[in-house]
Amino acid sequence: MDSDRPTKLEFAVQMTCESCGEKVRAALEGKPGVRSVSVDVGKEEVLVESALTSSEVQALIESTGYRAVLKGIGGLEQDLGAAVAMLSGAGSIQGVVRFLQLSEELCLIDGTVDGLEPGPHGLHVHALGDLTQDCLSCGEHFNPFNKQHGGPADSERHVGDLGNVVAGPDGRASFRLEDAQVKVWDVIGRSLVVDAGEDDLGRGSHPLSKQTGNSGERLACGIIARSAGLFQNPKKICACDGVTLWEERDRPIAGEGRSKANPDMPSAHL
Ligand code: ZN
Repeated sequence: MDSDRPTKLEFAVQMTCESCGEKVRAALEGKPGVRSVSVDVGKEEVLVESALTSSEVQALIESTGYRAVLKGIGGLEQDLGAAVAMLSGAGSIQGVVRFLQLSEELCLIDGTVDGLEPGPHGLHVHALGDLTQDCLSCGEHFNPFNKQHGGPADSERHVGDLGNVVAGPDGRASFRLEDAQVKVWDVIGRSLVVDAGEDDLGRGSHPLSKQTGNSGERLACGIIARSAGLFQNPKKICACDGVTLWEERDRPIAGEGRSKANPDMPSAHL
């Protein structure tokens, strides 16, 4: 289901003066869904407590003209781990989906996928983190309890069944879900897949309904990897590792244009 549970988002924002900080603060404070804002110009850091998706908060910050990079995401009281999946696939489809375990029971799933046909698209955690044959090698929906396919609110469902996300006329699906079956520690190393069509949540007449929701071909996928929680990302806005956070942001999140070389890797010196 959609979540209105607040989370903390940590952004790096390129601010060079106190008044820039005030501008960023003004763009956020009092906006619907924003609970608190803390700006540290010296550290170029903005901490936002909100029930908005991370891309919505980023858009508010960037409405000032400053650029923002999400560095971490955390729960208000605790979080038990975080993960991220960078999706890529057919055509220009790209997405970033974050998983944050807020408690033993509850996982918050915050994501944005661009380049989709407008309308609903099935979203599922698949069993395998294997992209050797693109999304075809991701295996079936993650189903450790050997259940039938269902919707996220059903008790009879695959753990990986997250239902549908809906792309708007601009092709963007931006969502923030909470789920009581997905656990960050169970899905790290598996994959997340967005499908071409609508998941019928196991309620259709098609033979595939109880297996996959008959949501069509797999459009885009990515491996779910452990990610930084709040204040755990040591990456600074500098050229110390050869790539600044800002350059990183302007690259495609996957595919061509991604640098494979890392000058810090020992193999580069062989
Ligand atoms: Zn399923």
